[in-house]
Amino acid sequence: MIWSLLACQSESNKQEAAVVETPSVQVPLFQADSAYAYVAKQVAFGPRVPNSKAHRQTGDWIIQQLKAWGWEVQEQPFTAVTYDGVKLKSRNIIASYQPQVAKRILLGAHWDTRPMADKDVARVNEAIDGANDGGSGVGVLLEIARSIQASSVKPQVGIDMIFFDAEDWGAPSSSTAPPINAYGGYCLGSDYWAKNPHKPGYSAYFGILLDMVGAKGAQFRYDTESMQAAPSVVRRVWDKGASLGFGRYFIFEEAGGLIDDHIPVIREAKIPMIDIIDLRKNDKFFFDEHHTHGDSMPVIDKSTLQAVGQTVLAILFEETAEVS
Ligand code: ZN
Repeated sequence: MIWSLLACQSESNKQEAAVVETPSVQVPLFQADSAYAYVAKQVAFGPRVPNSKAHRQTGDWIIQQLKAWGWEVQEQPFTAVTYDGVKLKSRNIIASYQPQVAKRILLGAHWDTRPMADKDVARVNEAIDGANDGGSGVGVLLEIARSIQASSVKPQVGIDMIFFDAEDWGAPSSSTAPPINAYGGYCLGSDYWAKNPHKPGYSAYFGILLDMVGAKGAQFRYDTESMQAAPSVVRRVWDKGASLGFGRYFIFEEAGGLIDDHIPVIREAKIPMIDIIDLRKNDKFFFDEHHTHGDSMPVIDKSTLQAVGQTVLAILFEETAEVS
């Protein structure tokens, strides 16, 4: 994921924030300890760089977990070609809950990690752990999948989770290679899925992407395209986060433009999808350790995982099956 445009803050969007009244329903308590363990498990496999053993093993483990929790799992294999001409043996992993239900919510996260540490000062050509950038989103999604299976109360809607592959082999800022896609060489898996959905004609009521959702002191500001594509979803998620007591994470401010997996989904699959992503108000834009070897387990904070996981669970459980 990269920052594509200058950050700007929109006061007008702040004023438009509306309080959304949601029905009172029971929502399972999100278990941050469990989500944390799923992040640690991925990191323990090693960097999840496509074509590596750790990547293959992690994908197999994600699938095994989801199947064990009763989710219907589909693999979508594809070959991605990177900005520097490397062919990546890739697969998107799609898990569905209540596949028979017409109204569907799409959740996403990328499960691959960056093959380089181009923002670091040492070992720049070595793959990073990607505990936050990659691992955290997958950890939160897996815990959501597990908690829905374990819960006695169930969401009314159908849910599809897509674990996107080949997100993070984008061109570094030093690259002079010609662009291979509209996303700086990033988002190869989401671009493939958006052009080749796992079910022909697939759509969803709305989507939520999770990326870098585990760092200590995370600040979730919304990006321009999320707000353009799905303003009511952005407001609802941020309001829900605040109402649950996570207002210090969910900061209702526009951060600027951004390239991430929700963009192909919005533009090509025409699904209104938002991104929950840690966007800081400084010149780094992301968390300090972004695309460095510092993106490892010590940056992960269970309180941040809790804020995101509980908010998304509430959104899922409060959504009614009726299409309004
Ligand atoms: Zn990244």
